[in-house]
Amino acid sequence: MADRILVIDEGTTSTRAIVYDIDGTPVATVQAQLTQYYPEPGWVEQDASEIWDRTLAVAREAIASVGGADCIAAIGITNQRETVVAWDRSTGEPLTRAIVWQDRRTAARCAELREAGHEADIQRKTGLLLDPYFSASKMEWLLENEPAVAACDQLAFGTIDSFLAWKLTGGRTHATDASNASRTMLMGLTGGWDAELCALFGVDAATLPTIVDSLGIIGQTDPSLFGRAIPIAAMIGDQQSATVGQGCLAVGATKATFGTGAFILTNAGDTPPASAHRLLGTVLLQQHGRRSYALEGSIFVAGSLMQWLRDSLGLIVTAPESEALAASVPDNGGVCFVPALSGLGAPHWRADVRALVTGMTFATTKAHIVRAALEAQSHQIHDLMMAYRQDGIVWDSIRVDGGMIANNWLAQDLADITGLPVERPANVETTALGAAMLAAVGCGLYPDLACATSAMRGKLERFEPRMDGATRDARLSQWRDAISKV
Ligand code: ADP
Repeated sequence: MADRILVIDEGTTSTRAIVYDIDGTPVATVQAQLTQYYPEPGWVEQDASEIWDRTLAVAREAIASVGGADCIAAIGITNQRETVVAWDRSTGEPLTRAIVWQDRRTAARCAELREAGHEADIQRKTGLLLDPYFSASKMEWLLENEPAVAACDQLAFGTIDSFLAWKLTGGRTHATDASNASRTMLMGLTGGWDAELCALFGVDAATLPTIVDSLGIIGQTDPSLFGRAIPIAAMIGDQQSATVGQGCLAVGATKATFGTGAFILTNAGDTPPASAHRLLGTVLLQQHGRRSYALEGSIFVAGSLMQWLRDSLGLIVTAPESEALAASVPDNGGVCFVPALSGLGAPHWRADVRALVTGMTFATTKAHIVRAALEAQSHQIHDLMMAYRQDGIVWDSIRVDGGMIANNWLAQDLADITGLPVERPANVETTALGAAMLAAVGCGLYPDLACATSAMRGKLERFEPRMDGATRDARLSQWRDAISKV
């Protein structure tokens, strides 16, 4: 019986195919690296043909390793968001390199639009801030600077989900799910492609994909690819997928991914969130035509602080060593670290400020500094939690994943400083797992997402807050003092 799910997890640096059992256990994983091109400072491009070729190869290998396509009930796609592909519908071939989400080439154009007063309207409609990150200004750039795109009378635009779905279905489906569409800056949080925004960026809505549910049958794969047609039963952006994979289905449920930086998404329910703190409103997912939303915030410096302590200062030899060092001293010894090495992200949004370490004396050791660097993560999350609260969204717990949160000392400190339980799944691949859950519901293996998450989420470790109020208040007041100095 076909009761396994193939997830295509197309990330920025690699593409992976993972086959899941119905209980959420990954039974096969195949990964391939993707080439990044940096043709000019601030530009980041990828070859969409390479993305497709390597994705197809890893999918075929993963399917073969579990005995063939007959055991695969459905495919779920999760992907790097915002990246733009332009292709020719008549050939299915990309017209130029894809412009990757990190690409800053449209910064001046975004600044110009901001100065012309468009930001408030864009934020009200799309939940986003005027930034090169999002797809719209990248599409405009391609139309204005790439003759092959401008001249193509069969032009198709799409984010990576949409391009992969086109290829997988042999060109029969040009669709994107609402979570990916909500990162283009061309879709209203409550509607379809927005005519005014399409006009502002010069994008013809006829070149854009149809916006569909994040789960449900989106199309069937071309039988020549895997030996038989397999339904595509989910598409979702990577951060939204991780939010589902963490089971954040109730309003206030929050996931925080601690990698190089930290990405935080909170389920905001079925009303589009409006932030007064420059948090992003985004579609979490769409099911049966109804959308649920998330409020998204990002912290620039998380795991990268450990890399800096290791590689630039030589205070630690490995990042995991920070756990034992932090635990080796009873407290931070008065040291407080503001990790603004590349400015401060949400909710401060100060690209111009720089890092600071306060409170050092001759008694300060490297253990105090490393401990303060870990404590800084909890402080940053605490500030974000307060901003969400002021935007009307109250966290009930924090569900953590990402390489840095393997650090038990940090997980406990996060619970202590936020006063919330912190949950860490044994399976930290929450991005792919979320797409597996959605596809399992989308193809009918589970009746709804609540059933799928409870069956597939796996074992959790819980860290309960246990710090006394006075210690916590002292830590936060020390942090506020330090922040005020930058
Ligand atoms: P990304 O997906 O952004 O590449 P990962 O999720 O792989 O990042 O996390 C890696 C980051 O986590 C690195 O910056 C590393 O310094 C940090 N890290 C890994 N293990 C630990 C640990 N035990 N304690 C603290 N930081 C860690």
